[in-house]
Order: sequence, then C-alpha cells, then structure tokens
Amino acid sequence: MVPHSRRIFALLPTLVALAASPALGAVPQVDQAFLDEERIWVDTVASGQAAAVSNAVDAAEALRALLGHRAEALTRLNLTSPLTTADGLETQDLYDDMIIRAANRVIQQAKTLDLPEPTGDDAIYFASMMEAPPELGGNPVGFMTLGMVALGVRANHDLADDPAITVEASAQLTLRIAAAAVNNYLEAHVDELARYNANQFRHNAVIMRLRCPKDDGTYRLSNQKNKLRNGNQFSTIYFLKCNICYEEVELEYPVAYVTRLQEVSEPQDLKKEPEAARPAGGVDP
Ligand SMILES: [Zn+2]
Repeated sequence: MVPHSRRIFALLPTLVALAASPALGAVPQVDQAFLDEERIWVDTVASGQAAAVSNAVDAAEALRALLGHRAEALTRLNLTSPLTTADGLETQDLYDDMIIRAANRVIQQAKTLDLPEPTGDDAIYFASMMEAPPELGGNPVGFMTLGMVALGVRANHDLADDPAITVEASAQLTLRIAAAAVNNYLEAHVDELARYNANQFRHNAVIMRLRCPKDDGTYRLSNQKNKLRNGNQFSTIYFLKCNICYEEVELEYPVAYVTRLQEVSEPQDLKKEPEAARPAGGVDP
C-alpha cells in the first residue's frame, strides 16, 4: 500500500497548478444553532435513554426513540434550512453523524449486558420480514446508515405481535442490524484520511439530494476542480448545472485534511521521496 503522505505529495502539484483558477465557490454554511440545540438533547435525553438500557427490548426501543426524534428534528430543520439546499444538507449530514454516535451508545450499552445470541432460524425469519437493505458500500453517508437502522426498527415493530418470533429475539436482531450499520459508518470515519475519503463520496451524495430553488430540478456535475486559497487552504469546487433551467451553481468544500498535510510537509524537501523501509512484497526482486 502506498503511504498516505506519498499519495498526498503526488497530489500537491495538481492542486497548486489549479491555484490560479478564478472561480469562487459557495461554501455550505451549517445551521449551528440547530446543531447546538440538538447536541444538548443528545447529551441529556438520548444518553440517559442509552444508559438506562437493561435488555434488548429496551435497546431496540431506545433506537426507535432516537429515529423518531431525528424525524421530528429534520422536519424542523427543513423549515429554516431546507434539506434540498447545500446548507441544509451540510447541517443534516453533521446532525446524522451525531445521531449515529448516539445510536452507538445504545449498542455499546447493550453489549455490556451479555445478551443471548439469536438463533439462526430467528435471524432468517427476521430478515425475511425486513425490507431488502440497500448496498451501503465502504463510504456510507449518515442518512444511508440510519436508513439501514430504520429498516431493522420497522421490522421489529411489525413483528411485535407475531407468534413466530419472541420480542426478545426480534429486538436482538434489530440491535444486530443497527450494530453492523453503525460499525461500518464508524470505520469509514475512523481517522482523518478515512474522513477525507468518506467526504469525497458524501459530496456526491449532496449533489444527488440538491434541488434547484426555481424549478425543483436535479443537478448534474459539469466540472470539478481543486483550488488553493490564501496560499494554504485547499478546496474542492463542484460546478453544477440544473437539469431543467440549466442554471449553473458552484459548491465549494474546504479540504482540511490536505490543508493540514501541506502545513506539516512545508519544512520538508518534497523532491526527496521517503525511502521504503523494505521492498514492496512480490514486486521488487
Ligand atoms: Zn433549475
């Protein structure tokens, strides 16, 4: 595997060459008041619910309550910062990250309880009653992860009066599905490089969800450039075009990871490539 630093060094000349580009993108602005208010709810109500979990049924109920609150919160956010705008979507994605971490508290609390494993028959029955899950891939965006958690929660709700499965087994399987989805997300955001990669994917998911304010049209990506601002701030700019009125808009995302690497690498002579500690396995003689 190529070391991260080498890969970024290789990227730097391209970024610098584009520095003279005149385009000025619009950086999405988050609704910080909404996030601050919701942070208080997560740190008090949601973590209280997570700490009180003493069995699988409690845990599944805590996940259901979390998703219920999220639906209400996003409805509220949509009024002030519509979820079809870059500002609204940026806020939603940060909010969903918060909710996924709150769900993880429920999952971690349930793990300490040493719950019995559901049987294979129960797992098959539960899966057969659940809506087919979408492919999440290696870089899930928060709403995709929470969509997967919601599929489990919904199946659990539908199976509440089903004599073919106990409420405990159904709740355990809800937890198992939530844990798989949440772990996948957390692994994709485990460090700065992972978050950098996840964000590149997320930007495309923002473009998919954007709608033209004039005609509700979807957008297509017409161009994408990297840009250097103020000597050391790297950004990715997406040039979009409405599919109905063809109006062009730009979206700019600062890339903090590359900016920081540039700062760290400044004292070094970039012409000297770091020596590999040992030859790449199977490639060098
Ligand atoms: Zn339009």
